[in-house]
Amino acid sequence: MRGKLKGISNYCLSLFFPVSCVGCGKDLINEEGLCQECLDKIKYRKEPYCHKCGKNEEAGFLCSQCRNIKYYFERIYVCSLYEGIMRECIHSFKYKGKRILQQPLGKLLIAYINEKVDLEKIDCLVPVPLFKSQKKRRGFNQVDLLTKKIGKHFSKPQIVDNLIRIKKTSPQFNLNRKQRKENVKNAFKVRNPQLFKGRQLLLIDDVCTTTSTLNECARMLNQCHPQGIFCLVLAHG
Ligand SMILES: [Zn+2]
Ligand SMILES: [Zn+2]
Repeated sequence: MRGKLKGISNYCLSLFFPVSCVGCGKDLINEEGLCQECLDKIKYRKEPYCHKCGKNEEAGFLCSQCRNIKYYFERIYVCSLYEGIMRECIHSFKYKGKRILQQPLGKLLIAYINEKVDLEKIDCLVPVPLFKSQKKRRGFNQVDLLTKKIGKHFSKPQIVDNLIRIKKTSPQFNLNRKQRKENVKNAFKVRNPQLFKGRQLLLIDDVCTTTSTLNECARMLNQCHPQGIFCLVLAHG
């Protein structure tokens, strides 16, 4: 009954304050942030892909490029491709303050985890942090919001603000692989290593391209002697 009432009140609210789909602009009534049609347009990362860089690989789980790179995490789980609607969504979520997008994007990640990620072996969730002033300007860290949704759904503890970003880094998108690595070097710090010691961690980020940020986070986390580090990203591209 409660759910029904909530549904009715949401419906009434939407009549006065119609919320439009971030993808196509049409008014939404029962959906949040994105319409079903736009949701269906999201492209998922097809398997197999390299378990370190997240890119498609014909054979095996390790691509030739990654064989010579030191990785500090076990593997990466990639939900979707950073293009089209997904790109639009993440952009609106991060830079246009569309917090509502935590609903469809959170649901998407939950569905993905249900299907692909063995969460049994994970002890806690760790979001990739923003630099303090970045978070303040934005009002929230979109990755924290997604991590909270996942944690709540699966009853997994989230350890937020223990891995912190201590260096203001330039945006990674127009840098090459080497520059990206340099850019994020020593950008993170762990406040209390004991919280990560002996635990299986799932490090979560929204977008990744070369996994330099995730690998640098994992390098710091590794110094706390966790049992293992896994990564999950919403979109790759
Ligand atoms: Zn739409
Ligand atoms: Zn690779």
